[in-house]
Amino acid sequence: MQSVSMAAHPLVRARNVHKSFGSNEVLKGIDLDVMPGEVVVILGPSGSGKSTFLRCINHLEAIDRGFIEVGDQQIGYELRKGRLHKLSDRAIAAQRRKIGMVFQQFNLYPHMTALENIVEAPIGVHGQSRKAAEAYAMELLQRVGLVHKAHAYPRQLSGGQQQRVAIARALAIRPTLMLFDEPTSALDPELVGEVLATMRDLAEQGLTMIVVTHEIGFAREAADRVVFMDGGKVVEQGDPNVVLSNPAHPRTRLFLSRFI
Ligand code: ADP
Ligand code: MG
Repeated sequence: MQSVSMAAHPLVRARNVHKSFGSNEVLKGIDLDVMPGEVVVILGPSGSGKSTFLRCINHLEAIDRGFIEVGDQQIGYELRKGRLHKLSDRAIAAQRRKIGMVFQQFNLYPHMTALENIVEAPIGVHGQSRKAAEAYAMELLQRVGLVHKAHAYPRQLSGGQQQRVAIARALAIRPTLMLFDEPTSALDPELVGEVLATMRDLAEQGLTMIVVTHEIGFAREAADRVVFMDGGKVVEQGDPNVVLSNPAHPRTRLFLSRFI
């Protein structure tokens, strides 16, 4: 968690973001700013559009209306001669490489060791030397507490360890922004804590993070801000202590009542 200067420019700016799948309008005008170093936790019932919104930030989905900026770039578009132009697939891929994403399913390559999983993108996509990529990967394994598992294959690791490797893999591209989509939802309950502890460390180190989770304790302790989504809209947002303890909106109250 960082102290956030309100004078700074937001790292993420989402405005009036709309997204439909066929006739199903899933995002109905999302506005959200995330400051550099800020940790934002998104809560909300299943089907409220949380995953879709994260996927739009990372251009895994194209939005229908509005805009999303990360850093000084608009996702999917560039300004040329005063007009917005759609980016090429190649340019979109370059934008996506600045954003790390961790999913519920860790999706490690089963035939690669932890270390090989982590260096794959830095070497294959970013053109780093193996030596430099491996040195940084070992640093990341240290950060997630798994140096001793560098040469283990995913099947030799617990779910919690695999997810920590997946976090290290996402960090290996040195992202300016990390997106987490229910990173602990597929884990056995006794393995959730170690992954949340890793995420808490990252938050304390000043990484900018947007985290979709149902872990209210994590939201309370690690989030600078909690955003409650329902029905494709941001219903309420604010200080975790306020939103979680004294929610203003009946929908937020109903949702949170299930966790008590
Ligand atoms: P959440 O993550 O909050 O549970 P999602 O963003 O996954 O919500 O889903 C919101 C709605 O969008 C759901 O009704 C879901 O069925 C629909 N949806 C998500 N992705 C797709 C897709 N690729 N194609 C069609 N419908 C989708
Ligand atoms: Mg989801």
